[in-house]
Amino acid sequence: MRHPRIALAGMAAVAALALTACGGGGGSGEPSDTIRIGIKFDQPGLGFKSGDTYTGFDVDVAKYVANELGFPEDKIEWVSTPSANRETALQNNQVDMIFATYSITDTRKQSVAFAGPYFVAGQDLLVPMDSDIAGPEDLNGKTLCSVTGSTSAQKVKDTYAASVNLQELPGYAECVTAMEGGAIDAVTTDDIILAGLAAQPAYQGKFKVVGAPFSEERYGVGLNKDSDRCEAINTAIGKMISSGEWEKALTKNTEGTGYTPSDLNPPAQDPCA
Ligand code: GLU
Repeated sequence: MRHPRIALAGMAAVAALALTACGGGGGSGEPSDTIRIGIKFDQPGLGFKSGDTYTGFDVDVAKYVANELGFPEDKIEWVSTPSANRETALQNNQVDMIFATYSITDTRKQSVAFAGPYFVAGQDLLVPMDSDIAGPEDLNGKTLCSVTGSTSAQKVKDTYAASVNLQELPGYAECVTAMEGGAIDAVTTDDIILAGLAAQPAYQGKFKVVGAPFSEERYGVGLNKDSDRCEAINTAIGKMISSGEWEKALTKNTEGTGYTPSDLNPPAQDPCA
C-alpha cells in the first residue's frame, strides 16, 4: 500500500458510517428507536386499522414479539403491506418485520426470510348463504375472487384455472364487497381471514365459510434476508405460546366468528436458516 495512513483513515470513516447505519437495529439499516411492522389494514380479526387503532391476532402477536425485542407499543410504526407488496417491502427495507397472514413458502424464501410459524390456517371458500358450492371442485364455470400475490390465487391458478374465472383484487375485503354486489360466486383465501370478514356486522347472515380447507398455510414473520432477528423472534413466539398469551389473543380475535383453529395449532417454530 502506497499511502497506508490515508487508507486507514478511509477505512475508519467507512466503519463509522456502517455503525451509524446499523444503529443497533436488525442489521437492515433501520433506526434503533422504532420498529416498522408490516400488517394488513383490512382483515378484521387479523390486521385491521380503525382510526389510529390497530387490532387483530397478527397485531397482537407482533406487539408481543416487538416488546420481547425491546420495542414497546409506542415504538412500533404500523405499515400497510398488502399481499402483493410484502416481498418488495422487505427487500427494499421499507419494513423490519411482517405479520400479515404471510404463508411461509419455498418460492417466497428465495427473496425473503421467515421466522415462525406462529399459526396454521387452511385455504377455504366464502360463498353466499344459499350457495351450493361445497368445495373447490364445484367451481367449474364460476367466478372466483382472490388477491394478487397471495398463495390462494396461485393455488387456484395451478389447480383449477382451466375451468374457473379468477378475478384478482388488491384485498379480500374488496372481494367480499364484489360478492355482495352479485358480481362473483365465491371468495377464496385462508379460513381465518374469511371467518373474520363474514362476521362483520354488515354481512350478518349473508355468507358462509364452506369449512373444507384444502391447504396448509403456515403464517411466518417475514424478514429481510439480512435480518439477524429470526432466533429472537422464534424465542418470543415460543414464550407467547407457553405463557398462554397466544391462546388468549387467538380466542379474543376470533370470538363470535364461529372459527375453530385446526389442531395443527399452536405450531412449533422452524429452525432459522
Ligand atoms: N396466507 C396466504 C398468503 O400468504 C393468503 C393470505 C394473504 O394473502 O395474506 O398468501
